[in-house]
Amino acid sequence: MNSSAYNPFQIARQQFDHAADLLDLDQGTRELLRNPLREYHFSLPVKMDDGSTKIFRGFRVQHNDARGPSKGGIRFHPQETIDTVRALAMWMTWKTAVADLPLGGGKGGVICDPHSLSMSEQEQICRGWVRRIFHDIGPKSDVPAPDVMTSSQQMLWMLDEFESLTGQHQPGFITGKPVGLGGSLGRREATGYGVMIAVREALKELEIRPQNTTASFQGFGNVAQYAIELYEQMGGTTLCVSCWDQEDGVSYAFYKKDGIKLRELREATDPFGGISKGKAKDLGYEIYPGEDWLKQPVDILIPAALENQITEENVGMVGETVRLIAEGANGPTTPRADHVLREKSVFIIPDLLANAGGVTCSYFEQVQSNMNYYWEKEEVLSKLDMKMTSAYLSVSQFALKNELSMRDAAHVISVDRVAQACRDRGWV
Ligand code: NAD
Repeated sequence: MNSSAYNPFQIARQQFDHAADLLDLDQGTRELLRNPLREYHFSLPVKMDDGSTKIFRGFRVQHNDARGPSKGGIRFHPQETIDTVRALAMWMTWKTAVADLPLGGGKGGVICDPHSLSMSEQEQICRGWVRRIFHDIGPKSDVPAPDVMTSSQQMLWMLDEFESLTGQHQPGFITGKPVGLGGSLGRREATGYGVMIAVREALKELEIRPQNTTASFQGFGNVAQYAIELYEQMGGTTLCVSCWDQEDGVSYAFYKKDGIKLRELREATDPFGGISKGKAKDLGYEIYPGEDWLKQPVDILIPAALENQITEENVGMVGETVRLIAEGANGPTTPRADHVLREKSVFIIPDLLANAGGVTCSYFEQVQSNMNYYWEKEEVLSKLDMKMTSAYLSVSQFALKNELSMRDAAHVISVDRVAQACRDRGWV
């Protein structure tokens, strides 16, 4: 996944350098923002169910907290690397800034494959992760959240460990908790819905009616499923989704000529967003190699799986019909592929804007948890819509005014906001 050719941290730094050049940022601020403020590496011993002890590696990176507590998920992935976590932490700083949230950016990870871990082994990893680092995170300094292959259960174990260690109820320590135990209604839907709110605004700008559009997705996990849910409500048709097949160690694309039916496909899907080939076949889906999600004759592509998925090697597969790409995943398009797509006039809603709905709702959850007062789902979703629409419009107006791509505009706005906060605090 993260070969040195696609080192996500190098890519994140290239994007930052470009924004810094556009802003004519001074050397000190550049150096500060090119690097994480702090990072933690640790070992997590786990007593495995077979009686052996296995040591996992865990990380937390706090990229910048000038605008507020660091915020960002914890992902469990067998190919996790510190450079992936650094890149994701930096992208979180820009994301919270572009959504104009009073937060900074952080990210965590553990090198592990939850598919092959029992619940008890996963619980030990979660509790161990918190024990290693609880002095340096918390509601007022750094607030974790779920990410790839972590969910509300992992967040709850982590919260429980943090509260045991500190002797206090502090539900604002972590977000993505189960509803009823400090979670916010609407959090599950927020990232995917946010992607589609951005798509809705972009389609207005491109003067295309959502009802007349088709889409293809990479990924069928949390982000993709809820993006598809709102897209269906907007009248759009999803022709293809791809996902990772754990047994075969490859990805597959699932296609239906008249459009996938979200409800039926969900029933054939495991909790990690993997679709059963057998069940999908029975439901009438055609199954192709995973990369085929890119070459569908659709209007919209939504990468919602992992970083570095649209590269210079496969960007040629993107069909001529594609008008819009909304990056549900973080860092799914390499800079060279991005260049090729721009040359083809494909309108790209960059990750830091397109998937900001997740952190926006996490912020709402933090606010509710700190108040110990919870909002109705409608209130959460309408606030989400307002925040996402306003972030989208500020980026698109800035892009038009300054003749920039949406990606450059989003980076310039956010780097400028963070640099200003660092200057105001007297850091640079
Ligand atoms: P998830 O674990 O729920 O789902 C991931 C999906 O991607 C699964 O369907 C999996 O099968 C698929 N996948 C993995 N590798 C693949 C491959 N090589 N080819 C095709 N499909 C593959 O994760 P998620 O929460 O939906 O997150 C997806 C992306 O969105 C990640 O990049 C994550 O960082 C980003 N993101 C998530 C949130 C959130 O709130 N969940 C917020 C912002 C950004």
